[in-house]
Amino acid sequence: MPRPVLICGAGIAGLWAALKLAPSRVVLLTGAPLGEGAASGWAQGGVAAALAADDTPDLHTADTISAGAGLVNTEAARALAEGAAAEVAELAALGAPFEREGMTWSLSREAAHSRHRVARVKGDGAGAAIMATLIAAVRQADHIEIRNGWKAVSLLGDTRACTGAVAQSPDGRTETIEADATILAMGGAGGLFALTTTPSGAQGQAMVMAARLGATVQDPEFVQFHPTALNAGLDPAPLCTEALRGEGATLIDRSGHRFMKAVHADAELAPRDVVARAVHRQNATGKGAFLDCRTAIGDAFPEEFPAVFAACQKAGIDPRIEPIPVAPTAHYHMGGVKADIDGRTDVPGLYAIGECASTGLHGANRLASNSLAEGLVSAAQVAMALTSGTEPAKPRETVPGGSATWTPLPPHALARLRQAMSQHCGVERSETGLAALKALITDLRAEHGDADALLAADFIVTGALNRCESRGGHFRTDCPQAAAEAAHTQLTLADLASTQSPQRRYQTPAE
Ligand SMILES: Cc1cc2nc3c(=O)[nH]c(=O)nc-3n(C[C@H](O)[C@H](O)[C@H](O)COP(=O)(O)OP(=O)(O)OC[C@H]3O[C@@H](n4cnc5c(N)ncnc54)[C@H](O)[C@@H]3O)c2cc1C
Repeated sequence: MPRPVLICGAGIAGLWAALKLAPSRVVLLTGAPLGEGAASGWAQGGVAAALAADDTPDLHTADTISAGAGLVNTEAARALAEGAAAEVAELAALGAPFEREGMTWSLSREAAHSRHRVARVKGDGAGAAIMATLIAAVRQADHIEIRNGWKAVSLLGDTRACTGAVAQSPDGRTETIEADATILAMGGAGGLFALTTTPSGAQGQAMVMAARLGATVQDPEFVQFHPTALNAGLDPAPLCTEALRGEGATLIDRSGHRFMKAVHADAELAPRDVVARAVHRQNATGKGAFLDCRTAIGDAFPEEFPAVFAACQKAGIDPRIEPIPVAPTAHYHMGGVKADIDGRTDVPGLYAIGECASTGLHGANRLASNSLAEGLVSAAQVAMALTSGTEPAKPRETVPGGSATWTPLPPHALARLRQAMSQHCGVERSETGLAALKALITDLRAEHGDADALLAADFIVTGALNRCESRGGHFRTDCPQAAAEAAHTQLTLADLASTQSPQRRYQTPAE
């Protein structure tokens, strides 16, 4: 009997890949109970795809390239733009309740998109509705064995090939699962920051597992900070979707002054990194930052934005009559396991898709709503590659690889790390702060061993230290300009070893 395809992660990327691999046998490790722990279920806006009559994949590609600040891999951006519409249509046919009027899609227009392009679900619950559709389909699929709550803890193999993973059940049992192909679909890294909108379990573990096998990590320093998360002490911080600003909500300080007008011509609808830095500076200087939805949305809030309204209520805020306090939070990881748009990493048999992968598609700054689209397209592409019989053969013997035991970080050390990551590796960074953070990570590694969260944070910090320029989501106060030539960061586990002069390995973007 052929070995199964092993999928680690059950967000949009992992679930769509599992469905698309039919009739190949799939073992699906969900990480958390199915439906929990996935950023996909929390998405509010929707999925970007060229579905409008006046839109084309060329325009979508151009917008993606322009948002990515010089580092977008054109081939990956084109694959996304050409593939997204068909995947969204297929997802709708499966039952995802995208808004449509007759045969016409109701599409939102989000910042930096030149067309109405975001397929949405009524209100702000696109991710929850999509996930409900995918979960129902996966539960009915005979070819998928769901290991509910099982985590991947290490990969089998070495640089020559990945041959599966060691998995851990919710009650702590471990099992070796041999696989013909292993797909990482484990989401982002926001949980490494104290201020984040992502699930707390998103701690960049895919980068560490893959790197232990010899895979390359690309652009880990590029983290997108969302400018408007609810700043009321909740962890994770609930998102106040960009659509609120799209509807006319304004950003004001404590005295009611609208501060974005002086920062950028597009005011509240300026690029995400620009708004995030302005909001950060308002809070850092004590002037405060608030999202004022009283006039633009007012009494329609509970019906138009039910998820944001519920989060505000939980924090004791009524956005119909008072401004919402906001702060920028870690939201999306552009970096990750280096892969092509078909998911291939540089270890045969190991694939990475969705947010944990770095294909260069988002460059230094993701275009809003391109990540759910990437989850769908990269899942479809990896499934096509694996079922077409064109992937290179791999050695059949299993070689234990990486550390067979996953090292979690004790809660007090994780809290210290997260605080320091938000302080020194957040919206604004400097060599001094990053060096202090690198030293803290080194101390924590000496005390707690090479815990996955520490190594993942180390990748991000090392990339940020090496990149002596500002570009997209990465802003260095000590080198605020972009370098003349844009280049990708590429790091392996060995590159983390030096605390003083981390090795630089840059590669110019592929055409
Ligand atoms: C609040 C919020 C709103 C957003 N809104 C939008 C939007 O409107 N449009 C858009 O395009 N993007 C949006 N994004 C980004 C988008 O949701 C994510 O980038 C995308 O959902 C990632 O999908 P994924 O399948 O790669 O990962 P996820 O959906 O995060 O799923 C990761 C999966 O991996 C599992 N896992 C983790 N560790 C392990 C392990 N060791 N072993 C096995 N499994 C593991 C998790 O349990 C989970 O099932 C938003 C993000 C957030 C946080």
